[in-house]
Amino acid sequence: MAIQGERIRVLNDVEPRADGAYVLYLLQQANRATFNPALEFAIAEANRLDLPVVACFGLLDGASGFPEANARHYAFLLQGLADAKAGLEKRGVGFVMRKASPARVAIDLAADAALLVLDRGYLAIQKGWYREIAAAVETRIVQVEGDVVVPVETASGKHEFAARTLRPKLNRLWDPFIAALAPRKPKRAAGALELKSAIDVSDPEAVLAGMTLDRVVGPVKRFVGGETQARQRLAAFLKDGFSGYGAGRNMPEAAAASHMSPYLHFGQISPVEIAQAIRAAKVGDDDDRGAYLEELIVRRELAMNHVFYAEGYDDYDRAVPEWARKTLAEHAKDERPHAYSEEQLAAGETHDRYWNAAMREMRETGYMHNQLRMYWGKKILEWSPSPQEGFARTLRLNNRYFLDGRDPNSFTNVAWVYGLHDRPWQNRPVFGTVRYQSENSLKKFDAKSYVRAVEDLCAAER
Ligand SMILES: Cc1cc2nc3c(=O)[nH]c(=O)nc-3n(C[C@H](O)[C@H](O)[C@H](O)COP(=O)(O)OP(=O)(O)OC[C@H]3O[C@@H](n4cnc5c(N)ncnc54)[C@H](O)[C@@H]3O)c2cc1C
Repeated sequence: MAIQGERIRVLNDVEPRADGAYVLYLLQQANRATFNPALEFAIAEANRLDLPVVACFGLLDGASGFPEANARHYAFLLQGLADAKAGLEKRGVGFVMRKASPARVAIDLAADAALLVLDRGYLAIQKGWYREIAAAVETRIVQVEGDVVVPVETASGKHEFAARTLRPKLNRLWDPFIAALAPRKPKRAAGALELKSAIDVSDPEAVLAGMTLDRVVGPVKRFVGGETQARQRLAAFLKDGFSGYGAGRNMPEAAAASHMSPYLHFGQISPVEIAQAIRAAKVGDDDDRGAYLEELIVRRELAMNHVFYAEGYDDYDRAVPEWARKTLAEHAKDERPHAYSEEQLAAGETHDRYWNAAMREMRETGYMHNQLRMYWGKKILEWSPSPQEGFARTLRLNNRYFLDGRDPNSFTNVAWVYGLHDRPWQNRPVFGTVRYQSENSLKKFDAKSYVRAVEDLCAAER
């Protein structure tokens, strides 16, 4: 199956360099060796030019580490890269990993490349790397989107107002994008090239041990990184959790969650591959399928739309819509029913045992169910001295403890807590007309068995 033209952007429209030794692929967003359009594009071009493919990765470390990334995130990333390296080498694609920014590694290795292929992410830091690369590299650069179902600019040319404005556009467009991607076979293996990798990620624990980073938030046992793990989890979800997803996805105790978010965040699985598997599943009904694709495509790609088009998605004054900031400001001096410091919140030391359990699940295992994330975020707004402080705290905690943190979904959903993509509701203290979530919402599911499940999950971490 061909790669859809909408996924492909030429960033530097010159001929590939005639004396190039390889086609270079900067593996950055799509950290996987299969179902990866940028990689397949690179192989097809290399075959045309009769060259091998070299994939490269730039590992940010120390003072220039990836913003907010800690040992938990890096452990998962490195496990995924070990898996990707093995998969790439098995296919005859070279893999070079160096301690430097992705842009620096790509620029240096592009000096001997006929063509540079990039994959694509939508965060500001990623856009910055693409600009830096485009300004410095003189050979042809092609960027291939592979981590959303419908490329962001194809879905919409503007910042969308809400899910209801993006949904019909995606529904209309997504069918041809949910398609198989046949693996190309490289004509020339990269084995003969004398390109040394400065880091051997085959031993991810050793690489992690050699890095300078925040180790207070450590790796978790609950999630192991890599495309092999991602596929195993997806298969298990389709077997045991998917049937009933439509009815059960708002019940954290119902096992109706795929746990795909860390794998999607690190590009270890393609959302197209997941969407295809959901469509082809022999279990589940149309309600389950519709509900899952709504989350995976509409909600997730609404988040991509937001970070791509909204300047300052991590800044309260720019990420939160004006109507919401106005009503929250009018209620900024309302008495808070409970007030906690950020340290108390992080330690799960509030009066609310269910909130504390959710915080514990997040702190100790790196994950929390969507239904509880909403409750968790709304309570931080309620218990913080100001909406600005609540927003900043939520984002810091979100990005520090969740394995899937620092994602377009992180920034968008935290802003959702403060009114983004939502509408005004009934006026009430602290929240004004921003949607409120009461303790009663916990009565809709078996909160006691959730607390027990968290105990077990945390015990398994020790
Ligand atoms: C306050 C708050 C903070 C959040 N922070 C993050 C975050 O840091 N990173 C993150 O990936 N998601 C975040 N979410 C969205 C959502 O909660 C998670 O994506 C989801 O719980 C991940 O679990 P899962 O993969 O088992 O989900 P499933 O229910 O199995 O859903 C499948 C996939 O659909 C997508 N999805 C599901 N719910 C949403 C949603 N509400 N918005 C966008 N996409 C969704 C995810 O990619 C998810 O992996 C947050 C939500 C809230 C309310």
